[in-house]
Amino acid sequence: MMKRSFKISSLIFIITLNINCNINESDNNKIKQSFKVINRDSSAESIKRYKSNLLDTLTAIFENDELVDVTLFSEDFILDIRYATKNNFIDTILYPCAKCLLRYEVLKDLLRVQSELKKKGYKVKLFDCYRPHSVQKIMWEKMPIVGLVADPATGSRHNRGSAIDITLTDLDGYGIDMGTDHDDLSLKGRTFYRGFNDTIFQNRMLLRTILQKNHFIGINSEWWHFSHDCGTKYKVSDVGFDCNN
Ligand SMILES: [Zn+2]
Repeated sequence: MMKRSFKISSLIFIITLNINCNINESDNNKIKQSFKVINRDSSAESIKRYKSNLLDTLTAIFENDELVDVTLFSEDFILDIRYATKNNFIDTILYPCAKCLLRYEVLKDLLRVQSELKKKGYKVKLFDCYRPHSVQKIMWEKMPIVGLVADPATGSRHNRGSAIDITLTDLDGYGIDMGTDHDDLSLKGRTFYRGFNDTIFQNRMLLRTILQKNHFIGINSEWWHFSHDCGTKYKVSDVGFDCNN
């Protein structure tokens, strides 16, 4: 506990310093590293309180275009990253580990989504986030079908770190019925498919409504896919996943 308190007070000191005077790049990196350490170690309520206050302050420290690991900012996200397993539409492991990275600008809106959903009794579960461009090429080689897989020549919003594949669970982590699994490419996976009961349709609409309120745009062909309205502002990237952190 002493160790954590020391880390937090050190971090607050550095951040205060950052607000009050110009600080160089290496100090910014120290702040980011401290933030990551606190997030990894955190469990106590007091630390959670600090974290929520820090998020506002950190807006000035992280650049909007930085790819950040969402789990460093909230312990409430549930990751079910399908491309780190064989449980996906091409039955192939494509990621070395289960990670959800997003541009910081996108993450901030996802945190707002999460907070709004939590008040209604739901958690956010993520199937896919940033997808390296090299993985997009593999997908395209295996399934070069326009409309199903984005052509790597242009790249997808996932390759830009600005799209998510998302669903809902209850507060205990049990899945909310959306009618189909992730990447169901049949008609049943279409967002406005009406062959299921009203509850399933309403679940899909709840997800869509809250995301669209917070700068995410849904599509008609996949109920789980949303792109941030930052559009193509961010470049297609091919950053590998750091599986050690
Ligand atoms: Zn998607």
